[in-house]
This record gives sequence, C-alpha cells and structure tokens, in this order.
Amino acid sequence: MKHWIAALIVLSMLHSPSESSGEEGSLRVTTFSVDITPPLGEPVGLGFIPLLTTAEHPLLARGILLRDAGLSCVICTLDWMEVHNESYDFLRQQLGNAAGVPASHVAVHCLHQHTAPAISTAAQRLQLQPGDPRRIASAEYLLSVSRKITAAIHTSQSHWRDVTHIGVGKAEVRQVASNRRIEQSDGSIRGRGSNTASSPLLRDLPEGLIDPLVRTVSLENTSGAVAQMHYYASHPQSFYGDGRASYDVPGIIRERLEHRSQVFQLYITGCGGDVAFGKYNDGTRTTRSQLTARL
Ligand SMILES: [Zn+2]
Repeated sequence: MKHWIAALIVLSMLHSPSESSGEEGSLRVTTFSVDITPPLGEPVGLGFIPLLTTAEHPLLARGILLRDAGLSCVICTLDWMEVHNESYDFLRQQLGNAAGVPASHVAVHCLHQHTAPAISTAAQRLQLQPGDPRRIASAEYLLSVSRKITAAIHTSQSHWRDVTHIGVGKAEVRQVASNRRIEQSDGSIRGRGSNTASSPLLRDLPEGLIDPLVRTVSLENTSGAVAQMHYYASHPQSFYGDGRASYDVPGIIRERLEHRSQVFQLYITGCGGDVAFGKYNDGTRTTRSQLTARL
C-alpha cells in the first residue's frame, strides 16, 4: 500500500479533528527530531562502502506522535539506508514503550539514503564472521540510537498540540526519477543506477514508469500547519560510496522547507526499488542542487 494512503487511513482511524481545540479526546500531535549520526569509523551503507570518515549532514531520526481518545501511534522516519528483522522489531518495541503504545502502533521508516547506516543484527550474527569485509552497522550503534529516540519521545510528550484540520496536496515531479531496470527490444534488462556519470548513454533511455506526484499530508489547527508529511517514491541518493554521511536530497529538501516554513517536516520515501535519479543525475553537487530544487 502506498505510504501516503496508509497515513490517511491511520488519520481516519483516529477521531475526527475537532473544531474546538483543547477538547478532551480531540486529535493531538507532538514531534521529535534527534541526531543519530554514527561515530566516525562506523559502517555506512551496505556491503563494501567505505567506513565513515566525514559527516556532511547530521543523520536524523524525526517523527510524530498522534493521539486522541481512541488510539495513539508513532511515525518515525530515519535517515538510514535500511533496518531489518529483529533490529526493526527491537526499534518498534522500544519506541512503543517510550510512547506508551504497542509496537503495532509504531511505524519505523528508512528514507534509504546510501550515505547512511544499514542494520540487521540478525543477518550479522547468522551470516557474517568477525572481520568479514561486508560491513553493516553494529548492535551497539542500534542500542545507542534507540536510547536517543526514546529520550526524544519522552521529551516530546510535554509539547502536545491540537489538530483541527487535515490538508492534502500533490504536485507533479519532473526530471527527477527514472527506472533502474529497462527492458530492451530483445527482452533483456539494462541496468541504470542512481548516478550515470560513468555511462552517460544510459540517460538517453526512456524514463519508464515512475511516481508522477509528490504528495503532502498536513496536520493543522487554527494557527496554521503543525506538521507536514511528504511522500515520493524514488531511491533518494545523488552520489555515495565516499565514506561520507549525508541525508542527501530528501534531507536537504526537508531541512530547507522546515527553515522556510517554521513547520515540522517529514519526508517519507515510497516504493522506489525500481526508481532512481539515474536518467537525470551525473553525480555532481551541481546536479544534486538541481534535483533538490525540482523535487
Ligand atoms: Zn538502494
């Protein structure tokens, strides 16, 4: 199911926003944001990506808690590449404990930047011998992140704000996303990654089937917007593999929008397994700025 539809379903399960703010049982929201950048020397990405040597941007865990008389839930986004298996279950359980809700009411979402950690403590334990050159983030790091987020959730619960209106919006996205796997006339598949600097002819191949729209869900009250969530389906990275931590295009957009609007912003990556920036990306910082501006 598309993430933005899921968000609307969750919101519809909560009681209808009340016109009279502060009413007992009306919809309320609070937000949190915490720096979860790993220490230098820790793994970023998955597999053979070099260890972290510099942080261009802080990697953030950002989220909201929603509460009304009938239901509470947590939506937590991570500037991480991936989190799997028992590591995912562990985070949901810990975040749920901090928010006072069951793990089933906690959504943990990775934006999938390749300039950020990937974690599966189970895969590490079952498949990787000590010293294996395939590197993924450690259980110690997972535990430290869990502690930071749960502390942020505890603090956030003294800052609830009323929600009286829910807004939705959408806009067409042009010249950002393209397919990663392109079928040739003979039926074979041609691959096209996020960055086509080394094979510019791949940019001439068709864009393919992409998500045409970025969608926004806005939680508001009579004073204006309180928190906004943006949904777009594409691999989000411009360039990677250089020992650098970055929240990349979606993080740059998120922080810029929050600075301008003074409204809490979440970016959520939709189903972009076969979608990336490749047709429009030569992996330079100039192009990253252009992709950021377009999206
Ligand atoms: Zn990927």
